[in-house]
Amino acid sequence: MVDILGNIEDLDEKIRTAARKAGRRRRDITLVAVSKKQPDSRIDMALEAGHRFFGENRVQEAVERWSERRKTHLDLRLHCIGPLQTNKVKDAVALFDVIETVDREKLARKLGEVMRERGDAKPCFVQVNTGQESQKSGIAPESLSDFLHYCRRDCGLRITGLMCIPPLEAPPEEHFKMLRDMAARHNIAHLSMGMSNDFEEAIALGATHIRVGTGFFGPRPKN
Ligand SMILES: *Cc1c(COP(=O)(O)O)cnc(C)c1O
Repeated sequence: MVDILGNIEDLDEKIRTAARKAGRRRRDITLVAVSKKQPDSRIDMALEAGHRFFGENRVQEAVERWSERRKTHLDLRLHCIGPLQTNKVKDAVALFDVIETVDREKLARKLGEVMRERGDAKPCFVQVNTGQESQKSGIAPESLSDFLHYCRRDCGLRITGLMCIPPLEAPPEEHFKMLRDMAARHNIAHLSMGMSNDFEEAIALGATHIRVGTGFFGPRPKN
């Protein structure tokens, strides 16, 4: 059996240490537990341990997993960390507290519409394709400035953060630095960067949200 409570304690200690080394405070870093594809038993162990921040990358899976649990855990904070199709925006806005993957104009427009209809401007992060990878979603770094204007001025979105997924093969630090510098230039407070294998480096470079899946829950079961 996976020892979720033990994992949480280990992660907390590592986050605390990385924060201290960087002259930062533990409470300025949010551990988002990426629960995609994880069995319900592990999710419930995490909830029992008191963890409340979770990330999901598929809307349908997230709705199935979290709709009921939301009702009994009013302080849950759910982050959408996967590619979002415009036809899923209504469901996504109804379920999630933060949308981390605003990555194109059409999506920004739809998010703006739906949030306005609901009177519910949820915080959004813009995903930046720091590695300029053609297969990866995200805004090209050189287009970020225009895109931020578009999101805020034309769509009325509350952009509070930037998010990136660095290329698999490369050392992540240069991507974390890029994201940090872009956020500073645009006065953006939150930085979602760092996963199981590199969250300590990300914290050293300013991450406010780390997205940890396997390091939190254990390996995702193959299906
Ligand atoms: C799956 C996923 C993670 C977590 O990855 P781990 O290596 O399991 O920590 C983080 N961010 C995104 C966008 C993901 O899809």
